[in-house]
Amino acid sequence: MDTQILKIAFLIGLAASTIIRIPYQRETQQNTIIDNRKTPQENGLLFLVFLGMVALPLVYVFTPWLDIANYHLSIWANGLGVVTFAIAMWLFWRSHHDLGKNWSPTLQIREAHTLIVSGIYQKIRHPMYASVWLWSIAQALLLPNWIAGLSGIIGFGILYIVRVRNEEQMMLDQFGAQYQEYMHKTKRLIPYLF
Ligand code: SAH
Repeated sequence: MDTQILKIAFLIGLAASTIIRIPYQRETQQNTIIDNRKTPQENGLLFLVFLGMVALPLVYVFTPWLDIANYHLSIWANGLGVVTFAIAMWLFWRSHHDLGKNWSPTLQIREAHTLIVSGIYQKIRHPMYASVWLWSIAQALLLPNWIAGLSGIIGFGILYIVRVRNEEQMMLDQFGAQYQEYMHKTKRLIPYLF
């Protein structure tokens, strides 16, 4: 597929993710933080995600600087990238919708925090992270470049590995047996599997 079309598809996805998040960001700001586990390590990991999923892709889209690392992908792979990005954005929206004012961009517990175990959270514990995994896979299929295509999987992969355990520990500290029971009933990313 024409790389210009792929770049536009990627930008549309990126814009969609920002638009989806705006109303939930407003809602969550009204819910005061009572336990903040945002460490310098967390800040570093968030920066890595920004670099891998926003900054490097934008350098690839708007400049020729990374073109030396381009590769070729079939039209089928590109098409799969578009479909994967669309599914990722649906899941991204759905998890924000179900999490509501409990959402935080980092590890935080809020004053009126409730444990969500319904909607998409009935199927898996980390649907938002599942959506970002799909988004970063879509990035690799839409931007055929060894740097800008793969930087999303690497950046988010590192954040995910470090964060998911810390997040579950924080939820256990806050919700105790209720979260433990929820953990027994659900998988992290793929229903019944993983
Ligand atoms: N890991 C979840 C949520 C990501 S947002 C997902 O991938 O869908 C991160 C914040 O969500 C955490 O700081 C925590 O406060 C909150 N959180 C995570 N799981 C939750 C749940 N089941 N119910 C309520 N809040 C939750």
